[in-house]
Amino acid sequence: MATFKVIPIEEETAAKVRARKADEWGNSALTPVVADKKPGYPCRLCLRDAEPGEELLLFSYSPFSSARPYRNVGPIFVHAKPCQPYADADIPVQLRSRLLSLRSFDEHDHMIEADVVDGRELERVAERMFGHRRAKQIHVHNAKPGCFACVLVRRDAHA
Ligand SMILES: [Zn+2]
Repeated sequence: MATFKVIPIEEETAAKVRARKADEWGNSALTPVVADKKPGYPCRLCLRDAEPGEELLLFSYSPFSSARPYRNVGPIFVHAKPCQPYADADIPVQLRSRLLSLRSFDEHDHMIEADVVDGRELERVAERMFGHRRAKQIHVHNAKPGCFACVLVRRDAHA
C-alpha cells in the first residue's frame, strides 16, 4: 500500500455539472460525449476509464478552490450519470498507462517540485516528493493533454 492517498474530484462538483450542464469556468449547455474506445475517456470521480458506449461530460476544472498564482484550469471528463467516487487504497489503473506530470505544493499552495513520470512509476516519484517535509499535496495531470487526474495526499494527513 502506498504511503499516500488518491483523491478524486469532489463529488459535489460532479453533481453540479451533471445537474446544470455547466461548469464554474463559463462552459454551458454541455452535451454528453459517448466513449468510442477504452482507454481514452477517464472519469475523474470514479477514476475508471469509461467503457465504450458510456456517456461523459467534458468540462473545465481546477484543483485549486480559490485564487492562487499557480491555479490552473483544464479539461476533465466525468461520467454523465452518477458513479461511485474512488476510495480504494491502490493506485487506479487509469494512471498506470499514462505519462503523468506531478507537482507538489506546500500548505500555502506554492509549488515545491515538478516532474514527469511514467504512470507505472508513480509511487517512486510521489514518495520522493513527499520526502520533502513541506510537501502537503501532489497534483497529478496527464502530461500530454494536460487533463487534471487526481490529488495525492499523505495517508496520515487524510485519515
Ligand atoms: Zn465515473
